[in-house]
Amino acid sequence: MSYRQFPWGDEGGLALGVDLGGTKIAAILATSQGKIIAREHRTTPTHEDPETVIQSLKRTIYELKEVSDVASSQISGIGIAAAGILDFKAGVVTTSPNLPGWQDIPLREIIQREYGWPTFLENDANAAALGEYYFGAAKGSSNFIYITISTGIGTGIFINGQLYRGVSGAAGEAGHMTIKADGNLCSCGNIGCWESLASGSALAREAVRQIEQGAKTAIQGDLTQITAETVSQAAQQGDRLAQELISHLGYYVGVGIVNLVNIFNPELILIGGGVTEIGELLFQPAVNLVKERAFSLSAKAVRIEKAQLGSDSGTLGATTLVWLNK
Ligand SMILES: [Zn+2]
Repeated sequence: MSYRQFPWGDEGGLALGVDLGGTKIAAILATSQGKIIAREHRTTPTHEDPETVIQSLKRTIYELKEVSDVASSQISGIGIAAAGILDFKAGVVTTSPNLPGWQDIPLREIIQREYGWPTFLENDANAAALGEYYFGAAKGSSNFIYITISTGIGTGIFINGQLYRGVSGAAGEAGHMTIKADGNLCSCGNIGCWESLASGSALAREAVRQIEQGAKTAIQGDLTQITAETVSQAAQQGDRLAQELISHLGYYVGVGIVNLVNIFNPELILIGGGVTEIGELLFQPAVNLVKERAFSLSAKAVRIEKAQLGSDSGTLGATTLVWLNK
């Protein structure tokens, strides 16, 4: 790998990358070439107040520093990827469907004050797009869209080799584009968002609804415990209902991608997140729909692929903010 591929050159030193999600806080220490030298994680105390979550975040960073045994002077900065709608310039989490109670939290300032390193804050899906662009499957693709499908749907949009942030830093919330105007309530408060139809939560919710209506299935037990993974496992064991539900989910994943392909004409759509572990059963209906419904010029130009970096995309992407802003 040549150093020259990075705009920041062969910058020495290390950066911290933190991913603050609704279920997990993950932190890494990495070189400017994307080599991870230490990692830490803990469960997000999501149902506690923001102060407790921030304490947990700080503890994760202190522990990472301790296990890596690196001097503070070797660390060039810290990038934080957070689940939520962020004011990028101000470094403020304005609101977050996944972190209840988070309203206008100046997270960048809080962390910068604690450690003294230059600190940057970015939306988690945007950070993951940065990670895939510099270190993963989107290397060399100047126009691409990263989509993560897990509990919700997050996206990051790259145009002409730049992350597109919009005027306030809130762009790229494709998970909340309205797909079904009279659909279900979304976690964001709007109705019929893509996320409410094509995410892991949507899959679990639809499974419960159909079982309650008496659908035949091998899925057993407490309905409140059904997750996307439960449905995925049942599908792999040949359960018809589970297979149909996933195929239906893939269809709605495809509906959203058709919109994105028609609007942005990207060369690459990268899909990551836990739900993509389902594989072909999910991807095939989505890919077919894009071929069927998107404008053929754009449909022919786009590759739809799996993201490469898994859960490291967000943390590694967060470290690039440090190098890009040095
Ligand atoms: Zn929404």
